[in-house]
Amino acid sequence: MKDSDQLPRRILVTGGAGFLGSHLCERLIGQGHEVLCLDNYFTGSKQNVAHLLARPNFELVRHDVTFPLYVEVEQIYNLACPASPVHYQHDPVQTTKTSVHGAINMLGLAKRTGARILQASTSEVYGDPEVHPQTEDYWGRVNPVGLRACYDEGKRCAETLFFDYQRQHGLEIKVARIFNTYGPRMHPNDGRVVSNFIVQALAGKDITIYGDGSQTRSFCYVDDLVDGLIGLMQTDSAITGPVNLGNPDECSIIELAERIVSLTGSGSKLVYRPLPADDPVQRRPDITLAGELLDWSPAVQLEEGLAATMDYFRAQVGLQEVGQ
Ligand code: NAD
Ligand code: UDP
Ligand code: UDP
Repeated sequence: MKDSDQLPRRILVTGGAGFLGSHLCERLIGQGHEVLCLDNYFTGSKQNVAHLLARPNFELVRHDVTFPLYVEVEQIYNLACPASPVHYQHDPVQTTKTSVHGAINMLGLAKRTGARILQASTSEVYGDPEVHPQTEDYWGRVNPVGLRACYDEGKRCAETLFFDYQRQHGLEIKVARIFNTYGPRMHPNDGRVVSNFIVQALAGKDITIYGDGSQTRSFCYVDDLVDGLIGLMQTDSAITGPVNLGNPDECSIIELAERIVSLTGSGSKLVYRPLPADDPVQRRPDITLAGELLDWSPAVQLEEGLAATMDYFRAQVGLQEVGQ
C-alpha cells in the first residue's frame, strides 16, 4: 500500500554526492522536492551533483555523518558509507563509525524532527550465504572478524539501531537491502567489478578476475534501484522492511567479463588474481517481497545497463577510440 501524500518534501540525502546518492538526488529534484545533499566527499564528489547546483530546490553541504547534524527535514535517505570493498577497507574503523555513529546521529535527527528515515543497507548482511537466493528472513553468515566485517557488521548494527529506534521511540523506518548496483557515476577507480572491467576493457588492459571467476553476483541498474528506494520510502508507515532491492538476473564473474569484452569489442584478455578473503561465493536476491509491497521489479537488462555505463566511462576517461 502506498502513502498517498505526494506533496513536495524537504528531504535529506546523506552520501548524496556518491554514485547512488547523486542519482537519487537527481530524481527527487525532478519530482519537485527540496533536497539537502550531504557528503564528506570520501568516495563521492561535487562533480556528481554539479548539474544540480543551479537548481533552486537543491542544496549541497559538506558534512561527516559521524558528527551530529541539526537541520529541519521530513524525510532522510541515509546512504553515507563507502560501498566498494577497496574503499571501505582503506580505513575500516572509520567505515564502522560511519555506519554506526552515522546511523545514531541520523536516527537522533529523525527522532527530533519526526522525519521518516530510510537506511541503505546491503546484501552484505547475508555474508557468504548458505541460503540461495537470499530472502529477508535469512540471518546471514558473516565473519565478524574478517576484512569485510567493518562494512558488514557496521551495516548489521545500523539495521539493529533502526529497529530499536522504531520499537523504542516509534520512528518511521524503512530498511532497504541493496544488492550489487552499477551505472554511470561509479568512480573509475572505485574497485568494484563492473567499473573495473569496463575501464580495463576500454583501455585494452587485462581484465582482472579474482579467484577462478565462478563466484556469482546479480547486477541491478541504478535507475531501477532508485525507483525501488523511492517506492519503499513512500510505503505505508506500517511497512519497515528489511526489503531486498536488486536484480535477480545472476551471472558468474567470468560471464560478466566476457559480456563486457564482447560489448566493448575490446582485445583485452582475462587474467587471474587471488580471491580476496571472505568473498561471497554466490549472491542473488529473492525480490518477492519488494514485488508485493512496492509493486517493483527491475526493468533494465544487463546488456542495456552495461551499454549506458560504458558510454559514461568513455566520456569520462576520454577513451572513445579505445576498444572500438
Ligand atoms: P559511494 O561510495 O559512491 O557513495 C557513498 C557516499 O557516502 C560517497 O559520496 C561518500 O563520500 C559518502 N560518505 C562516506 N562516508 C561518509 C561520512 N562519514 N559522512 C558523509 N558522507 C560519507 O557508494 P554507493 O554505491 O553510491 O553506495 C551508497 C550507499 O548504498 C552506501 O551506504 C552503500 O553501503 C549502499 N549500497 C550500495 C550498493 C551498490 O552496489 N552500489 C550495494 C549495497 C549497498
Ligand atoms: N542528533 C543529531 N541531530 C538531531 C538530534 C540528535 O545529530 O537533530 C544526534 C546527537 O548526536 C545524539 C544522537 O543523534 O547524540 C542520538 O540522538 P538521541 O536523541 O537518540 O539520543 P541522545 O541525544 O539522548 O543521546
Ligand atoms: N572482482 C573481480 N575483479 C575485479 C573486482 C572484483 O573478479 O577487478 C570480483 C570480486 O572478487 C567479487 C565480485 O567481483 O567476487 C564482485 O566484487 P565487487 O567488489 O564489485 O562487489 P562485492 O564483492 O561487494 O559484491
